[in-house]
Amino acid sequence: FQFNAPTNPILVHCDSEQINQVIRNLLGNALKFSPDMSKIIVEITHREEHVNVVIADQGIGIPEDELTSIFSKFVQSSVTNNGAGGTGLGLAISKRIVEAMGGEMFFDSTLGVGSRFGFTIPMEHGE
Ligand code: ADP
Repeated sequence: FQFNAPTNPILVHCDSEQINQVIRNLLGNALKFSPDMSKIIVEITHREEHVNVVIADQGIGIPEDELTSIFSKFVQSSVTNNGAGGTGLGLAISKRIVEAMGGEMFFDSTLGVGSRFGFTIPMEHGE
């Protein structure tokens, strides 16, 4: 793991239990779908009133024509749908959690090269 974050703490007003689940989902996927000893980068940045968390891996990637459906419930990519993954629910739930916090998820992936999954959430948001 390579961890890139500002030295000063970034304070975010959010449900820590839920955001922990989102980060564990993204980190778990990066670990599951990457070869041993490859690098996983966790990057935290903030801009104005938003914080960005990105988890980038050098794993198997996702075919381009499947990227738009990867956040749908029970969907797994054709390169991992042999049951080796999980239920295909993690990303769908993560997206809902992040959007309920007023944020959004983003992603980018290249087959055989790696994936970047992340989210941005406001540092303060209403109830
Ligand atoms: P699960 O991992 O439980 O199957 P997710 O909703 O978290 O469910 O992920 C859905 C699918 O998206 C995975 O099964 C896999 O096919 C694909 N995927 C998610 N993250 C990655 C990643 N980092 N690299 C490659 N494929 C991924």
